Amino acid sequence: MKISGKEYQRFSKQIILKKFGVIGQKKLKSSKVLVLGMGGLGCPLSIYLASLGVGTIGIVDNDKVELSNLNRQIIYNVKDIGKYKVNVAKNKIKLINKKIVIKSYKIRVNKNNIEKLIKNFDIICDGTDNFETRLLVNDHTLKQKKVLISAAVSGFDGHIFKFNFKKRTPCYRCFLPEVPEQSNNCEADGVIPTITGIMGTLQANEVVNSILNFNSNMEKKMIIFNSIKMNFRTINLSRNKNCSNKC
Ligand SMILES: [Zn+2]
Repeated sequence: MKISGKEYQRFSKQIILKKFGVIGQKKLKSSKVLVLGMGGLGCPLSIYLASLGVGTIGIVDNDKVELSNLNRQIIYNVKDIGKYKVNVAKNKIKLINKKIVIKSYKIRVNKNNIEKLIKNFDIICDGTDNFETRLLVNDHTLKQKKVLISAAVSGFDGHIFKFNFKKRTPCYRCFLPEVPEQSNNCEADGVIPTITGIMGTLQANEVVNSILNFNSNMEKKMIIFNSIKMNFRTINLSRNKNCSNKC
């Protein structure tokens, strides 16, 4: 994987970092990251991945842009209303960096397509909006031994966790065995736009940490951020011997 003179110039402010360097840039360029859901989390996440120079980015969503998305889904504007999110996002990401490969999937993640979808990516970022999909993504990233970086938002709170399934680790189902009866999502409960930006950006940050092998201390932890109190809380996750994934 070579870095051209122009790329060196574009990424100079990160390459100059001792812990990053040209080697770090090459690692990003050869990485394949999948973004599930192009909503409030997927928008900032994919913009940062493209800006950083991640070589292959997959984006997945089957929704069209609506007026009520525009307060937080920052890749879209009023001219995009009614268009498919992945089509708009693909074009805009290409404007940031035309050298990267964007694979767009106009589908809703389900049990029939998940296996094939995640197969060709190294890191899977989940920004979908419901527990059912989050558990499905957890089970299959575990099965295929991928790195999963998952975030969710509700109200003024957001949480993020990472599982490196190449190692023995708890999984999301250890923490949440089944879909809760009272499931909330931002469609029903509302969400403050900035929390989606913060959590999506933290996902991008954790992608970099994973690719560059930085020890971010995210192993076996869930981090919760509240945008009013401006504090981070950490919940330790442990293996549940009754987990259906046999963790
Ligand atoms: Zn488990």
